[in-house]
Amino acid sequence: MDNVEKLVIIGSGPAGLTAAIYAARGNLDPLVITGETVGGLPTIAPLIEDYPGFPEGVVGLELVNLFRKQAEKFEARFLTEKVESVDFKKEPFEIKTASKTILAKSVILATGSNPIWLNLPSEQKLIGRGVSACAVCDGPFFRGKKVVIVGGGDSALKEAIYLSKIASEVTIIHRRDELRAQEILQEQIKAKENIKLVLESTVEEVSGEDKVTGVKVKNISTGEISEIDCEGVFIAIGHKPATEFLKDQLELDAKGFIVLKGETETSVQGVFAAGDVADPRYRQVATSVGSGTKAALDAEAYLEEIKI
Ligand code: NAP
Repeated sequence: MDNVEKLVIIGSGPAGLTAAIYAARGNLDPLVITGETVGGLPTIAPLIEDYPGFPEGVVGLELVNLFRKQAEKFEARFLTEKVESVDFKKEPFEIKTASKTILAKSVILATGSNPIWLNLPSEQKLIGRGVSACAVCDGPFFRGKKVVIVGGGDSALKEAIYLSKIASEVTIIHRRDELRAQEILQEQIKAKENIKLVLESTVEEVSGEDKVTGVKVKNISTGEISEIDCEGVFIAIGHKPATEFLKDQLELDAKGFIVLKGETETSVQGVFAAGDVADPRYRQVATSVGSGTKAALDAEAYLEEIKI
């Protein structure tokens, strides 16, 4: 069937673009359905300092543009649209965007994940004006200033440690009386003089008109409300994978992340996953690049096996 793609890659962050480089170089002629924009979350990172090969760091957008250029060099094709639905019960698989229905022998899912917000109107109003969900991306804007972090998991504590090297004071606000994060991170924050812990407390409101000036915090055991002055508010309460369009199509875990059956294999034969969409834990450009590589090689082996 001429109109059936060998491989469709859904998503264009580091995982999807790396899969595209490998698949295109391996003659699989992949079609990448990018979503509304190309590049995924790194596009908003002002500087990525932990991706190997860039000793001075690299601007996120610049890095993903290089990934894209490299995929195009090997003639990967791009469609800048959002996937609305898939049918993995059909053979070949069916993928629908607003304008097209695409048929594919194999698919790599690399749609990533997005931060979860508190969803307070005051928080939403001040996103980008002091409210952020990425300490590594936005922390440097708060050099020498006071910031708060909401959350008690590994992400919140790792971000607090990162911010403590930049900000003058970091206050972690957590809703329970104990942290969820691993012990080693808890030890590390205790050793930092400029990190404070406010437990059993929730953020009721982010204060400020055009920019953040503080947070109103409620102690949930006493009901007492207090104000903490700060210029930055970092929300670190987890990420939601972009898998809404995959419901009932393949196995997802309770939080919606794709469940892997091997390195990149999903519960549907011929459908692979790479990057944050199947990884609640690491969420790094380097780990996404690694899993994008594996997914392309696994898809290639699968297509050979079914003799495409
Ligand atoms: P997480 O483990 O799900 O923790 C989310 C935190 O946010 C929890 O403390 C939770 O409180 C709190 N929270 C959730 N909803 C909230 C709300 N509406 N209001 C206030 N607080 C709320 O998420 P994560 O820290 O992003 O970690 C995700 C995964 O990545 C975990 O498996 C983690 O181990 C892994 N990770 C690992 C590292 C590492 O260095 N190894 C670094 C980052 C992440 P409760 O505790 O009360 O539920």
